[in-house]
Amino acid sequence: MARKPIIVGNWKMNKTMAETKAFVDAVDPKITDTADWGIAVPYTDLATAKAAKNLIVSAEDIHFKDSGAYTGAISAAMLKELGVNWTIIGHSERRQYFGETDETVNLKTLQALKNDIYPIVCVGESLEQYEAGITKDVCKTQTEALFKDVAKEDVEKIVIAYEPIWAIGTGKTATNEIAQDVCGYIRSVVADLYDEEAAEKVRIQYGGSVKPEGLAKLLEQPDIDGALVGGASLVVDSYLAMVAALD
Ligand code: PGA
Repeated sequence: MARKPIIVGNWKMNKTMAETKAFVDAVDPKITDTADWGIAVPYTDLATAKAAKNLIVSAEDIHFKDSGAYTGAISAAMLKELGVNWTIIGHSERRQYFGETDETVNLKTLQALKNDIYPIVCVGESLEQYEAGITKDVCKTQTEALFKDVAKEDVEKIVIAYEPIWAIGTGKTATNEIAQDVCGYIRSVVADLYDEEAAEKVRIQYGGSVKPEGLAKLLEQPDIDGALVGGASLVVDSYLAMVAALD
């Protein structure tokens, strides 16, 4: 069975509620079913974004506990009550600025799955690691860690986002060949952890300076099933240009 592409905008710390409403009003009616299209938005924008009928609305993080003394954190139940059943987990900015580790990424993945929330889990190497030639080692470690204790039947609910950190927000995209090579490798790691069948079902996105012009060719790569898109997802015209690129 072919994997349906999934393209999700990652808004990071951008857009107020009013800006979110304007974006959703302009973009949502034009979403087609060439892919699963979504936006991951700040918590304060989730309720507004949920007015969308076509776009998937995702959080950008989730806490791994059900509730408790975790100031500033948001639980699965809080997301569910808003009707939000997607979240990004382990984005490199969370790993870098908020102390996210392979262990918390795994706990959050398990917590999301337990609550019927689909996780988009990010992996990827730094520039230093890329230059040292250890990209695949890093991705293997992160991929194995995120799947710890994940049941085989849950594997297909996870979207893996391969995001080389040196390509995020820098304008430097990995070539399609590099992106394919690493995404194919990540799929082989999943096959080793489970089996080929599970690995064939999991969707793997590329992320890092994806632009509308490059999207169609990127998705022609056999192991790339979508994109996690920062900057180019913030502007109505460029989001719609991505939608048009797959029509
Ligand atoms: P970018 O961000 O498209 O702006 O490089 C991607 C991401 O961080 O998910």
